[in-house]
Amino acid sequence: MKNQHNYMPLQPRSNPELLSLVIPIYNEQEVFPYLQKSLEELAEKLPCPVEWVLVNDGSRDLTYSLLFEWAIVDPRVKVIDLARNFGHQAALTAGLDHAIGDAIVVMDADLQDPPELILEMLEKYREGYDVAFAQRTKRYGETAFKRVTANVFYRMMRRFIHKDIPANTGDFRLMSKNVVNALSHLREGQRFLRGMIAWIGFSQIAIPFERPPRIAGQTKYPVYKMMKFAWDAILSFSSVPLRMAMVLGFMVFWFGVGYGLYAFIRAIVYHDLVPGWATLVILQSLIGGTILLCLGITGEYIGRIYDEIKQRPIYIVREYANLVVSNPPRRGIVSHLPNKDSKEVLKERV
Ligand code: UDP
Ligand code: MG
Repeated sequence: MKNQHNYMPLQPRSNPELLSLVIPIYNEQEVFPYLQKSLEELAEKLPCPVEWVLVNDGSRDLTYSLLFEWAIVDPRVKVIDLARNFGHQAALTAGLDHAIGDAIVVMDADLQDPPELILEMLEKYREGYDVAFAQRTKRYGETAFKRVTANVFYRMMRRFIHKDIPANTGDFRLMSKNVVNALSHLREGQRFLRGMIAWIGFSQIAIPFERPPRIAGQTKYPVYKMMKFAWDAILSFSSVPLRMAMVLGFMVFWFGVGYGLYAFIRAIVYHDLVPGWATLVILQSLIGGTILLCLGITGEYIGRIYDEIKQRPIYIVREYANLVVSNPPRRGIVSHLPNKDSKEVLKERV
């Protein structure tokens, strides 16, 4: 895919002074050693200094202590420990809020987003692009079901949500500081970051790659979570379902009017209105069903309005390591003053 905003001339720039890698982590103790090794190897190859913003999204395994132990020996490791599992998109938001690099890369912990691709993304950054996203040409180690559903999902996203949402991309992408700043002003609770980034604009470019299987451990996105994610994405970005409900209601209404006329004429002209029971039942259930369906869809939106109106924080931070934060981000909450030494924190918790 070419630059989607190619009417804008690109301004070449030099390497970022600092590159941030934001990585959400949930129960990834099996993956952790591989991740650590490949991040350290990548840092050698990078043309600029790096910080790793690792967000522990309420893991229940050893991930927490592994992260803090690493933070003690390496100041490049910044840990944000969330108070519970807030979900992938909220964890990403926490990481983006705290990353201070000039260029910020978002990637998964399981090395399905190959770190070497970041070098190519940096190339695009130097060319002047503000967003360089990885686009999967092939997926390995994923079931046919996941591939097919993912395909349908992206088609729907493009059609209904935003035409600039690229197909077959995850959250793996490099963003300039400007984009991340803009993103930090979008504080809705139901977050679909890919859509939000497409919505923001700027010059965006795809980098094709073949998605390898997970290096270890299990996917944290079982089918029901995937469906919920797709549903959230559609509802948070589009009022098409609401419109569909209206169209459906409209159609059934006209059908009812037509059928009513027909029944009326039969009653007046032919006087043969005895067998009506089946028709009535059918009509009743048809109309009743449509009303319920439309009500349900409306209800979904009202539920979301209710959720948004509460203005709850998107995530709650329990602890930091190697991060000094003076102002907690809007709709992100820090449970205590975070400037504790990570060694102290570790002593308390492990
Ligand atoms: N993840 C997270 N919170 C969650 C679920 C997942 O932080 O509630 C992280 C997970 O540790 C991984 C990334 O999000 O780094 C992507 O998850 P996964 O690899 O399981 O998803 P898949 O690649 O199968 O779509
Ligand atoms: Mg994965």
